[in-house]
Amino acid sequence: MPELIDTLLTGGTVVTMDGDGRVIEQGAVAIRGRDIVAVGPAHELREQFAAGETIDCAGCAIIPGLINAHAHVPMSLLRGLVADVQLDVWLLGYMFPVESKFVTPEFSYVGTQLSCAEMIRSGTTTFVDMYFYEDEVARAADEAGMRAICGQSVLRFPTPDAPSYDKGLEYTRAFMQKWQGHERVTATVAPHAPYTCTDDIYRAAAALAAEFDTPLITHLSETARENKESLQERKLSPVAYSESVGAFSVKAIAAHCVHTDERDWAILSKHGVGAAPCPSSNLKLASGIAPFAGMLAAGVNVGIGTDGPASNDDQDLLNEVHLAALLPKGVSGDPTIVPARQALALATSLGAKAVHLAHLIGSLEAGKRADIVVLDLRALHTTPRYSYAPDSIYTQIVYSAHASDVRHTLVDGRFLLRDRQLLTVDEERVKREGQAIADRINAFLGERESNLLDKIVAIGGVQQAEIFEVQVKACIADAEAIAAALNGPAFTITKATERTQYDTYLMFADPARGRVRYREDHRRDPGARLDPKSTLTLTVPAAERDDFPHAVLLSRARYTAPADRSLRFYREYFQPEMIVEVEKQRRRWRVIYKDEDFAINIDRLVGSTEPGPFLEIKSRTWSFRDAEHKVALIAEMLEHLGVSEEQLVKQEYVEMEAKH
Ligand SMILES: [Zn+2]
Repeated sequence: MPELIDTLLTGGTVVTMDGDGRVIEQGAVAIRGRDIVAVGPAHELREQFAAGETIDCAGCAIIPGLINAHAHVPMSLLRGLVADVQLDVWLLGYMFPVESKFVTPEFSYVGTQLSCAEMIRSGTTTFVDMYFYEDEVARAADEAGMRAICGQSVLRFPTPDAPSYDKGLEYTRAFMQKWQGHERVTATVAPHAPYTCTDDIYRAAAALAAEFDTPLITHLSETARENKESLQERKLSPVAYSESVGAFSVKAIAAHCVHTDERDWAILSKHGVGAAPCPSSNLKLASGIAPFAGMLAAGVNVGIGTDGPASNDDQDLLNEVHLAALLPKGVSGDPTIVPARQALALATSLGAKAVHLAHLIGSLEAGKRADIVVLDLRALHTTPRYSYAPDSIYTQIVYSAHASDVRHTLVDGRFLLRDRQLLTVDEERVKREGQAIADRINAFLGERESNLLDKIVAIGGVQQAEIFEVQVKACIADAEAIAAALNGPAFTITKATERTQYDTYLMFADPARGRVRYREDHRRDPGARLDPKSTLTLTVPAAERDDFPHAVLLSRARYTAPADRSLRFYREYFQPEMIVEVEKQRRRWRVIYKDEDFAINIDRLVGSTEPGPFLEIKSRTWSFRDAEHKVALIAEMLEHLGVSEEQLVKQEYVEMEAKH
């Protein structure tokens, strides 16, 4: 009597990815319920089993469902949002501001649905995620029928779903409790990265992962800069640091591991940490190329991921496998490393170890879950087929096959994709809803890109300065005479400093947009602190009134922020149409004149055709009446300092320098 089963996939080339690396031509896979009950030659299984349904897989490869070891699936909604910029501009200028404004439970849910549809179509059956409102990711993954390890992100600063990391950890615990014991969905905790977390976050996350027996997910050694800063701050690589705070005392999955070395690999290997490089993302963000061959030789459980669709920009895992086979060859000059079979293992058998699910998935063997992909190899780009060499099937899958060749995708024995028909996600509805969310983000960014203030606000720390600036500038002959006059009885000097200021103006053809000044201020007077202070100042056009005698009254909005990023960051972020640099040696006095506070500068422009010296008298106020009063005082001060009207200059330094 033949044994009853639900489904028999028969007649294809079964690529088991089991310990013996069996490949069965004219093979079959028998499925009952959620499990694989037998794998073998088709003629044997047809005799052994009576199947409720027999699926002819002639011309196809039957492979284990692919495992995406690192993703941020809701970010499919941010696909194509910004590209070809540095990681910090990408993250701090775009991702974080957009996420803080737009990431909601709905965003995470719809984004996950879109990703699930894409992953199922491209043969992924399991994914490891890290994002916000992860409960919605879990819900959408469950509804789509996928297997998922969903990591709730925890960072030390406010996130879209948690005002503080304590709240984030509370949310995570509730989330993990809710999904505990689910068949396919594992809810867990994901401390984002050493550079965005604290020791306490890692310790708390490890405790949660231990309590619920789930993997801890994190990012490690994505960029060279991250490694350099970790070594400077902690004398430990990100991998060694994670070990030191207990992150590897539990099952762990570390995304990227691009800048890791032998010592790191020994640590990863010792603790069974899964490493998940993401080749496309690592290339696109110019993070580097992960040392696949080195990690594999060191016995690290290496998986492979797509990373978020905002940095990839797709979730086609076969494409990542393709890159994982090619990149190590290209950088080493050795075409024998990471052969096709090993590359496919990254997304199957070895990938399953990396995500700590090897007891369930990763190979086609009796007793494992029926997570299976049937790849149609009858397309033009997979024709013809050779079979004389045992590894030719891997060659064909890794170097020739595309995501579009996926014909059937099953998870737990259930068809999620059948004859290229998606069964568990309403693609048209998801595309519509995803586009509607993207339209809102698009409108926000369109507005922001044309508004410098919004762009500055987006990166934080902005303050608005007093709106009225009373200012007069004069070209003077004798700086020492001015300095001497300031020491006379009319003025009280409250502070005197000397400094070198390097100003870089980021300017636009349309002056109505305003301009951004990046200033590095180096104090030169004895006793001053040595580290330069950098500030960012946005000025929007002055409605200048020329009807004041002697002085120009500037009425304009002015915003300042500490410039805690590099000039390079701001250049790429603001994309100015013109850049003007002004370097000046400044002597500055804060003085009281008739109970009012003024700043007086004597400036010499370095490397300019109009080097000065120049005298500036400035004061700021919120009050228009006060501004008028100060204009009158400035006229008196000019007399005290012996400056005549012919000496007055109406241009700003940036305007003088822009002419040259
Ligand atoms: Zn990531």
